[in-house]
Amino acid sequence: MKTKKTKIFGQHFLKNEDVLELEAKITNLANKEVLEIGAGDGRLTKKLLEQRPKKVLAIEIDRELCYQLEKKFKNEISQGRLEIVNEDFLNLDIKKIDIIIGNVPYNISSKIILKLRKIEFEKAILMMQKEFCQRLAAPPATSEYGRISALAQAYFDIEQIAQVSKENFYPKPKVDSQIIMLKRKKTPKLSKNFELVSAALFAHRLADVKNAIKRSRHFFGWTKEEVGEKLKKFKNYDKKVFMLNWQEINQIAKKLVE
Ligand code: SAH
Repeated sequence: MKTKKTKIFGQHFLKNEDVLELEAKITNLANKEVLEIGAGDGRLTKKLLEQRPKKVLAIEIDRELCYQLEKKFKNEISQGRLEIVNEDFLNLDIKKIDIIIGNVPYNISSKIILKLRKIEFEKAILMMQKEFCQRLAAPPATSEYGRISALAQAYFDIEQIAQVSKENFYPKPKVDSQIIMLKRKKTPKLSKNFELVSAALFAHRLADVKNAIKRSRHFFGWTKEEVGEKLKKFKNYDKKVFMLNWQEINQIAKKLVE
C-alpha cells in the first residue's frame, strides 16, 4: 500500500532483518551517542539499542510515527537510553554527536549531505539511493562526478559499504540502495568561498575553468571587465571543470576571491 506519506516523507521501510542488523553493526556503537535520521516505526532504532549505545537520539518528522515510537520504546525512553525528537532533521539544531545513522529519505539526500558538513561527528552511516552514493564517491573526470561529489569529498572520506536491492523495502521503491560511511576529514582550511566557487564552476561542468567563471560572473556580482581582470591569474589554466578535484577547486577559490 502506498500512502501520501510514502511520497512526501520518503517512507520506505526496510523489511530485511539481516540488513537492519548489519547496518547496526557496521561500527561499534557501545557507549556512543547516536543520532538516527528518520526513525520511522523504530525497526532500525531497535537494532541500534541492542548495540548498547550511551544514547540514541531518534529524529522523525512524522508526528504519528513519533507517537508509535513513544509507545513502542516506553522503557528505553524512561531509562534515558532513547529520546524521540519530532522534527525535520534539516532544521535540527545540533553541533556534535558521535555517530549518525539512518535510512534516509531519498528526496533530501543532497540536503542531508550539506547539513552534515556543519555537524561534528566521527562516522555517518547512511542508506541512500545507489546512484546518489555513487555520485558522492565518483572521482573527477567521470560521468557521475559533479558539484555534490566535490563538496562531499572536500569534507568527508567516503566508503561504500554494501548495496541493498529495492526488494528489501516496503513499499518497494523504484531504485536500489546503497550503504555508505562518511568520516569527517581533517582538511586544511577550505577557502570561505569554496562552495560559492564550486557552484559557479559546476554551473558549466563541461566548460574549461576560464569560460565557466566568465559565464558565472553573476555568482560574484562581477562586471565583464572585472572578471577579465580576475582571469589574468589563470592564463595557462585549461582544465575542464569536471576534471577538477576538490583541492584544485579550493586553490581556484583562493586565487579568485581572496
Ligand atoms: N528507519 C526506518 C524508516 C526509513 S524511511 C527504516 O529503516 O525502515 C525514512 C523515514 O524518514 C520515514 O519515517 C520519514 O517519515 C522520515 N523522514 C522524512 N523526512 C524527514 C526529515 N526531514 N527529518 C526527519 N525524518 C524524516
